Amino acid sequence: MGSKYVIGVDIGTTSTKSVLFSEKGEIISSYNIEYPLYSPTPDTAVQDPEEIMNAVVKTIKEVILSSNIPPNDIVCVSFSSAMHSLIAVDDEGKPLSPCITWADNRSVKWADKIKDEMNGHQIYLRTGTPIHPMSPLSKLLWMRKEQYELFSSASKFISIKEYVFYKLFGQFVVDYSIASATGMFNLQELNWDEEALKVAGVTSSQLSKPVSTTFRLTGMDSKFAEEMGIPENVPFVVGASDGVLSNLGVNAIEPGSIAVTIGTSGAIRTVIDRPITDPKGRIFCYALTENHWVIGGPVNNGGMIFRWVRDQLGASEIEAAKRLGVDPYDLLTEIAAKVSPGADGLLFHPYLAGERAPLWDAHARGSFFGLGLHHKKEHMIRAVLEGVIFNLYTVLLALKELIGEPKKIQATGGFARSHLWRQIMADIFNQELSVPESFESSCLGAAILGLYSLGMVDSLEVVSEMVGESHYHRPIEENVQIYEELAPIYIHVSRSLNEDYQRIAAFQKKWVQ
Ligand code: ADP
Repeated sequence: MGSKYVIGVDIGTTSTKSVLFSEKGEIISSYNIEYPLYSPTPDTAVQDPEEIMNAVVKTIKEVILSSNIPPNDIVCVSFSSAMHSLIAVDDEGKPLSPCITWADNRSVKWADKIKDEMNGHQIYLRTGTPIHPMSPLSKLLWMRKEQYELFSSASKFISIKEYVFYKLFGQFVVDYSIASATGMFNLQELNWDEEALKVAGVTSSQLSKPVSTTFRLTGMDSKFAEEMGIPENVPFVVGASDGVLSNLGVNAIEPGSIAVTIGTSGAIRTVIDRPITDPKGRIFCYALTENHWVIGGPVNNGGMIFRWVRDQLGASEIEAAKRLGVDPYDLLTEIAAKVSPGADGLLFHPYLAGERAPLWDAHARGSFFGLGLHHKKEHMIRAVLEGVIFNLYTVLLALKELIGEPKKIQATGGFARSHLWRQIMADIFNQELSVPESFESSCLGAAILGLYSLGMVDSLEVVSEMVGESHYHRPIEENVQIYEELAPIYIHVSRSLNEDYQRIAAFQKKWVQ
């Protein structure tokens, strides 16, 4: 038998990427197409479903062409996609609305209403999706209340991946993973939740049929098969969401393994074998397979906070970096590294963009605490790097309440380029940390799920043979002690500011244009 190949497709918010892997997980070729996110008002964040469909077809075509492998050797195409998207379609599957993305905030008022007046916490406990404007549950209530004509003319409400599968196969199916991020899917019953559907104002016949993430369809519309240059009978695996697949793709699926990513925003996630939700409502629970569930929290304030420091405090470093031909972030972290851990008693709460986990409070704001005359700019930079990690640490504490002590941390995202920032994480978390070689982790996760669906691998754990390690850090005992002293102060200050967050946000809303 000759070599076999699998394609992982990741339908993201900024682009769709297809990667063609060997069955051992090596990348043979990849192709990426970007598309716009339309934001005609500050609260709106929508996309054109057709632009995305075209990108899916074209990236699959190009990735096959550039690989030079015979299309008959492709065993399946398997999908990852962004969570929480919503498209209203008519009974022929034609879009009546754009694709409303997770970043669209128009339903904020309705999310508050679900939380405060419509039994939101109980719905969260069964569905695993925090009540938030990102979720299709909040978006549907918003649409019913504020765009009734659109709402009432729609025959179905689907996500972007369901749209792609409908166009290819003429069937409305939704994988358990994307379904589990709608806010309307009962995690225990693996079916739509009656009470959530009532809040949304839809019936289950207006949503797609939930199927396992390993579900396959074959026999696609020959027009698309021809366009992609792929035989019609190649199975397409419905797959899962980008978040849970990236846990798989960075080799963080065995019990106690935690994936932390800090790019522009951040997230911390771990895999467990059954769905659980948090009595305090701080974390999400999304499906990977029936036996793999991903719990964790997304944070708004990740690398964007360091970018803010670079732009607001780093003018001279930006200048110097230009002269030296280096990255300004590297100069800034070099300066911060000269300051002792704990920044000589300076703490920073990074809530510049409000916060999702663990506070779930859009009104939270940032602060430096403990400033003294001995503090200089370099202390502030270090405190910012530490503050971003302290915030993620508070989400880790919530996870620990549910799963016990973690065993290892797999860290990814732009922050992992910095030696200092990685060590700060190992020290604040008091955990060994490694940086996996994470090339296209969601596509790799989708590809592995595809191979698993076909029975070509016995378990998802094969990922550990596919993903190497590029950096490793051990916690440094003296630093751990310092951070252990500071963590309770960090947490207490933020808690005590809760009411003042609301007041200062109200002031800003009133006075700042
Ligand atoms: P995205 O979420 O857009 O994919 P990235 O994963 O590339 O973003 O992360 C971007 C963030 O990574 C930046 O905002 C910055 O905070 C951080 N970053 C990038 N390069 C470095 C570096 N050399 N040192 C420290 N942090 C860095």
